[in-house]
Amino acid sequence: MPEGHKTHFLAREHHALLAGEPLSVSSPQGRFSTDAKKVSGKHLASVSATGKHLFYEFEGGSIIHVHLGRYGKFRRHKSPAPEPVGQVRMRMTASEVCIDLNGPTTCRVIDHEIKRSVIDRLGPDPLAGGRKTEVWNNISQSGQPIGALLLDQKVVAGVGNIFRSEILFEAGLDPHLPGTGLSKEAFDRLWKSLKRMMTVGLKHGKIIAVTSKEAGMPLAKIPEERRFRVYGQTECPQCSTLISSVEIASRRMYVCKHCQV
Ligand SMILES: [Zn+2]
Repeated sequence: MPEGHKTHFLAREHHALLAGEPLSVSSPQGRFSTDAKKVSGKHLASVSATGKHLFYEFEGGSIIHVHLGRYGKFRRHKSPAPEPVGQVRMRMTASEVCIDLNGPTTCRVIDHEIKRSVIDRLGPDPLAGGRKTEVWNNISQSGQPIGALLLDQKVVAGVGNIFRSEILFEAGLDPHLPGTGLSKEAFDRLWKSLKRMMTVGLKHGKIIAVTSKEAGMPLAKIPEERRFRVYGQTECPQCSTLISSVEIASRRMYVCKHCQV
């Protein structure tokens, strides 16, 4: 599932590619046809992201709301667009480019009031000015394990399954530790890691947990298989202990039981 860095990355990219133009919006697959007609032909004013949600705001106040979920994927083509591939829920066509969306969890047209209610249900988004003190309040008042809290979009918006493993490893924290048992000092480390990794992820359009110093090369050159320290890995890069996988909040995460205590 794309995590928050990717949603913000897509918002920036799609804003640069599509905003300021009238868009032709359609649904080759048919499931979004009725809503597509509400915005097709209108100027796209802006594209923004909060957590894992994308909002395409059109003149007149209509907004396309997209949540990619686990399987949602965008494909970009040059205009004129080729024949749709697979189940294309939404196709947005501008003068130069065409963007197809397949398999999202959510793709609908909403107004500002509904957008507000979507955002109100989310916790602070660290990439959209979300406040550290609010995240601390959400975490420190919960008896849930920190590994589950980080995935809860009401606690902090945008963190997904890869980030939680990598952030907790960098901060040296056991994912089973309850929020109420986390010291302020440990939370400060966690927040620092979270901000660093999400900012790097936004810049590069993918999660890169290792630093350029560790990898011995610039971040942009790090090969795919060397981006993570623990996620999907077998051996801890710090102590060489075997990495364990544990299930928390119904998803598998990765832990070094020696370094994360
Ligand atoms: Zn270790």
